[in-house]
Amino acid sequence: MNIILFGPPAVGKGTQSKLIAKKYNLPQLSTGDMLREAIAQGSEIGRKVSKIMTSGELVSDEIIMDVIKHRLSCNDCASGVIFDGFPRTKSQGESLHKIFMQMGKKIDYIIELSVDFTVLIDRVKARVSQTAPADRRPDDNPEILKKRLEVYEAQTAPVLDYYRGLGKLITLDGALSIESVSDKIFAIIDCKVK
Ligand code: ADP
Repeated sequence: MNIILFGPPAVGKGTQSKLIAKKYNLPQLSTGDMLREAIAQGSEIGRKVSKIMTSGELVSDEIIMDVIKHRLSCNDCASGVIFDGFPRTKSQGESLHKIFMQMGKKIDYIIELSVDFTVLIDRVKARVSQTAPADRRPDDNPEILKKRLEVYEAQTAPVLDYYRGLGKLITLDGALSIESVSDKIFAIIDCKVK
């Protein structure tokens, strides 16, 4: 079972992906986490992406597709994955489609978490005030969040139209509690699985 969890920064994709990963025993493929890991390891990719991530812009499709292809070739991805924060551009969506065709795989669920942007800005303000400076992500502040939301509108939201056009998009209210959102996601998956 392959799932794409879609939505703007800070909407709760990471939290929900972890819950789905645990319940259905699938790996969570967060491109953001993979890139932050590359930065922490000081790898070549890490050096290339560090500045761009801090600015709130997107990393190039080429780097992202390299990272994703490599990850998808690992054994633990054989029975399915949860994509978290990917695809983020139309080109990434199309590349994923091609790779999946070649691998004989399909995307089972594309779930969008939708929420008013003002809620997201308030969430990040609260998160910043509750987190020690050393533990904060460099792009997790209200100013950069505004940039990330602009980037989302311009480059990532069009991917939704692509999936909507394929008749595959399910939209959920991301303003609900963590548990309400995960209950809805589990209900969608379990209904189809049965
Ligand atoms: P969030 O979900 O809070 O926006 P992520 O951890 O998914 O955060 O991403 C953080 C940053 O990593 C993005 O702003 C971008 O610079 C980079 N990034 C992550 N995934 C992608 C992707 N699929 N394409 C391009 N850039 C990405």
